[in-house]
Amino acid sequence: MIMKWTADRDLDAFRKYFEDQWLFSLSFWYEGSANLSPPINNGLESLNGKIKQMYTLRNKLSLSSFLQTAERILYDWSLASVNTPFAIQTEFTNDLATRAYQWLQKLDRTKVLHVGAASYVVPSSEPKMGTSLWVQYYQSMSWNSYGEFTDWLNSARLVDFSSLTLPLFCSCKYGLKEYSCVHSLGLIMMWDHRKVPQVLGIRRGKGHPKKVKLALTKD
Ligand SMILES: [Zn+2]
Repeated sequence: MIMKWTADRDLDAFRKYFEDQWLFSLSFWYEGSANLSPPINNGLESLNGKIKQMYTLRNKLSLSSFLQTAERILYDWSLASVNTPFAIQTEFTNDLATRAYQWLQKLDRTKVLHVGAASYVVPSSEPKMGTSLWVQYYQSMSWNSYGEFTDWLNSARLVDFSSLTLPLFCSCKYGLKEYSCVHSLGLIMMWDHRKVPQVLGIRRGKGHPKKVKLALTKD
């Protein structure tokens, strides 16, 4: 592409701008440059939306009212972070546990590959390549086109348990965003660290459960 632009005299100035800006100065702007990290900025957009909805009401503010508003935002958010602190551990919902268990039943365990201290590769729901080829690409990073890259990216998930504390890492979109997904929880279940969720619908025996009496009380 660069060579093609260079050959065209009218495009050459643009070629130089593009090269300086997007290849030399900001070289990691493209999808895939920070591999296995979230490719979206939903968090940022959500915050931006809240500012418009709750504070500026979509109006452009004059400098003086902007500063007042910014102060109010900082005050509110500082209080909010005290009242609602960051979660320090991941909660697995029962629904996720059920889905992880179902995922595990369908999983071909021979496709789960161990690729490093505490990293595992598991096939995705619609893989376009096997996990061993996936690992080869992961190590060589030798995709020939963007299409090849996305096919690779969507064919398997990298699950990592190396950090001693939660969150668990998984490269699927739920793992990246919510720090918990069927893949990480499913693998934990596979190793039997977390009990399989109780099957719903199993009933207790008839009648009320017996009240257990203290051992030394008289009837
Ligand atoms: Zn996952």
